[in-house]
Amino acid sequence: MKTPDVSSKKRNKPTTLIKSILIRIILMSVCIVTLITFISYFNVYHKQTAKNLEDLQRYVSERVRTDSEIFKLAEDNLKVFEKEFLKLYHSDVKVSDAEFWSYYFTDDKKATRMQRKYFDGIFDNEQNYIYGISSFIGNNQSVADPDFQRRLILTYKVLAKLGPAWVNRFANVHVAYPENAITLFYPEEPWGLKARADLPMNELGVIKAVNTKNNPERKSIWSGLYYDETVEKWMITYMDPVDDGGRHLITPGHDLYLSDLVDRLVEDNNDGTYNFIIRKDGYLVAHPSDPTDDQKWVGQLSLDEIKIPSVIEAYKLIQEEINGDAQEVRIIRNKAHDSYLAVGQIEGPNWYFIRVFPMKNIRSAAHNVALEVFISGMLILFTILLIVYIVMGRQAEKPLKRLSLAAEAIGKGQYKEVAESEILLPVELNNEIGLLSRRFVEMAANIQDSKENLERIVEERTRALEQANSDLMEMSLLDGLSGIHNRRSFDRSISRVFADARQSMGTFCLMMADIDFFKKYNDCYGHAEGDKVIRAIAETLKASIREEDRVFRYGGEEFAVIFSHADSSTANAIARRIMKAIQDLNIAHCESPYGFITISGGIVEFSSTYSNLEEIIKAADQKLYAAKDEGRNLIKP
Ligand code: GH3
Ligand code: MG
Ligand code: MG
Repeated sequence: MKTPDVSSKKRNKPTTLIKSILIRIILMSVCIVTLITFISYFNVYHKQTAKNLEDLQRYVSERVRTDSEIFKLAEDNLKVFEKEFLKLYHSDVKVSDAEFWSYYFTDDKKATRMQRKYFDGIFDNEQNYIYGISSFIGNNQSVADPDFQRRLILTYKVLAKLGPAWVNRFANVHVAYPENAITLFYPEEPWGLKARADLPMNELGVIKAVNTKNNPERKSIWSGLYYDETVEKWMITYMDPVDDGGRHLITPGHDLYLSDLVDRLVEDNNDGTYNFIIRKDGYLVAHPSDPTDDQKWVGQLSLDEIKIPSVIEAYKLIQEEINGDAQEVRIIRNKAHDSYLAVGQIEGPNWYFIRVFPMKNIRSAAHNVALEVFISGMLILFTILLIVYIVMGRQAEKPLKRLSLAAEAIGKGQYKEVAESEILLPVELNNEIGLLSRRFVEMAANIQDSKENLERIVEERTRALEQANSDLMEMSLLDGLSGIHNRRSFDRSISRVFADARQSMGTFCLMMADIDFFKKYNDCYGHAEGDKVIRAIAETLKASIREEDRVFRYGGEEFAVIFSHADSSTANAIARRIMKAIQDLNIAHCESPYGFITISGGIVEFSSTYSNLEEIIKAADQKLYAAKDEGRNLIKP
């Protein structure tokens, strides 16, 4: 039978069970971890987006609210100022020309200014400490008008009363007039004393913008932001015209320090997030990139001048999406710059406050979380794999190796070693491998039993066969008629004895014998009787020889006797015994001169003169013939 080839040579490179299981687990787990990573990335991305936009909205609302406070305060202050001034203006307080000149003087260039002591500090009649006030009237401006004089003095009084309380939050409080004049509460700067004598105050910027002609609706006005180099601070001016019965009386104003606002704008920049403030008409108010000195002088910059593409893009989007007031904080997606814009409105100057939040922040947060998930997933995975590796090694790989060794042993026919646990199997395991091992041992034991059984049967059969063979051999060496050994047996024995004798220099004797006148016996008594004689002679020969001697039917009515280790005298003595025994048989033979059956024979003793077997047989034969010739019934020694 052809054995199926199960050797690993023809297969792919063999791999271990544990390795292939681990590879499968790794592949599947890596897929799962990757999937979870993607899910958590998108989950975090969406949550983070929602949270960041909410934070952004809250931040901008809060910032807008805080930053609006100073502007609202400025507006409130000037309302108070207006009320105080109008109350005085409508009262019966009078200001004489003499009183006016007790405050003012005319300098050498014909400009009229308030006396220095009101700036440096003096106590007035009510023992109030007056300081920080200066006033200037251009040299082209007449001061003769009593109403103008009265407005100047009343202004002074209101400034003296309210100014000190306000200047901790504001740079100054100042009052302009339709005439070319200004009065200030400005403790840091004696402005009214320093102004150029011919300075046309009422022709300047915001002051000009609030006069009746330029501002028929009588709105309050915010200037743009500008950098005041004298005090090195960012400033804005607010002015609110005060009219009475259609007549413009004064224009009180505040200069506000906006350094805090601008500083906060810069401070709050991190992670690519930054703020900037822009006017509705497209003028940049504040931006975290440092303005150059020139830009500081200009104070406010149009978008064309600053050339910051992200700001220009943002402003365009705001115009498209909001276009007007941004009462609520609005979130705008700026796809071109991959960011969100949170837009609020600072009340007062109604500037847009914009916070730019790059979307990559959200992505990087989601990336980080996903990376953490991936790394921890991988760590857990590899820990589990390590455990699986160790457990599988103990529970499966080693037991399987032992099973494999046992299978190999069985392949080599070592059933007994497996059955008797000389090759150890994991039979103690309480699982399939344990069960398989126990079955394996049982199987080996069964095979061993069968093998032993088979061997016993084979042994028995072999023995029987050997017996039959030897019986057959024995039979082939016996003569069917007489029951003594036959000619074949003689040939074997004589050659062995001859060889032994030659080898050991021992001796033996050979006798050849023949029944006398046997033809005549057959003729006379018949063949059946002749056969009886052959049997009787054979019996007699056999009974007469020694145990170590052997008799053979040589052929027909001829016999041969081998006398082992016997010299001729011993052989002759036995021969005489034979002759006597045959005589004693006394088988009648009417045709024989002796009257009974006789035999003739010749005995030859082995000697080294015989170089081969034939010679000694021939010699015995010759002695037999000699006996015949000498009258028969004789054995020739
Ligand atoms: P001698 O004394 O010279 O030996 O004379 P003989 O007649 O015995 O010898 P011969 O060789 O002339 O004859 C032998 C006879 O022996 C012839 C044969 O019929 C007889 N014979 C040989 N084998 C058997 C046998 O198996 N049974 C019987 N009944 N006769 C046999
Ligand atoms: Mg004969
Ligand atoms: Mg004869």
